[in-house]
Amino acid sequence: MTAEVISGKELAGTIRETLKTETASLKEKGIVPGLAVLLVGDDPASASYVRGKEKACIEAGITSEVQRLEASITEETLLNKIEELNRAAHIHGILVQLPLPSHISEDKVIEAVSPKKDVDGFHPVNVGNMVLGRQAFLSCTPYGIIEMLRSKNLSLEGKHAVVVGRSNIVGKPVAQLLLRENATVTCCHSRTRDLKQHTRQADILIAAAGMQEFISADHIKDGAVVIDVGIHRKEDGSLTGDVLFEEASKKASYITPVPGGVGPMTITMLLSNTVESAKRTMSRV
Ligand code: NDP
Repeated sequence: MTAEVISGKELAGTIRETLKTETASLKEKGIVPGLAVLLVGDDPASASYVRGKEKACIEAGITSEVQRLEASITEETLLNKIEELNRAAHIHGILVQLPLPSHISEDKVIEAVSPKKDVDGFHPVNVGNMVLGRQAFLSCTPYGIIEMLRSKNLSLEGKHAVVVGRSNIVGKPVAQLLLRENATVTCCHSRTRDLKQHTRQADILIAAAGMQEFISADHIKDGAVVIDVGIHRKEDGSLTGDVLFEEASKKASYITPVPGGVGPMTITMLLSNTVESAKRTMSRV
């Protein structure tokens, strides 16, 4: 068997075209969706992610306002800036690029963003509402994964989904969303005993442990759907994931590549949440 590749790049392109149409029609009603991004310090990886988000916003017709702030900024000043953005009518989404310098509490910063503008879906109110199955901004990577599965009409109902990883931004929320889709979910982590015994039972395997190419064909059941969340740079400069793609493709029915898989979907769902937030302000008027 050779797996069908689920291209996040292609799906992201299709969703971004739809978003362009939506922002154009919002503009006709006088609303320009606006995303504020706060970048603290000069971490090159964070700066590059922010540039990527800025470019994607512009292409989708979303105004992007990036504030580049000194690493020495105090927590109080940063919290005040977030408060200003919470009040700014032209801003519909606020994103604080993580990680933050160690003198700033990430928890306080995440909680300072209004849940109505928390397009990253990290605020405890949005996380809680997601778990309760209520309206919430969904965390972008897990949301993107669910959209990728939907794009292939893969029914999740009654399927066994195994998530490897339990971080707050990927593992835990994706496990919750899979549960919401009526999958039976197992969530594995670094203390899980005999990982393979779990992953080999997966109809849907989500690899999000942040360990380079550690999921081999031996971890995968014949015909499983494999979603690779990991991103790692190899010594030759190329990108790879948590999964050994070539050998996994021979066993899986569907698989996502790295690059061009989950990555482009993450930014796209951020754009989608920002447009959704702008639409919600319209219904509140
Ligand atoms: P974290 O490091 O925060 O979490 C990793 C998780 O994997 C932890 O829960 C950890 O368990 C678990 N884990 C570690 N080693 C093992 C192991 N040997 N067996 C089973 N579980 C293990 O990572 P993130 O969730 O933030 O990210 C995961 C990967 O996804 C990274 O490569 C990251 O770069 C990538 N990523 C990609 C995104 C995209 O857009 N494509 C977005 C976000 C992340 P424990 O909790 O016990 O420590």
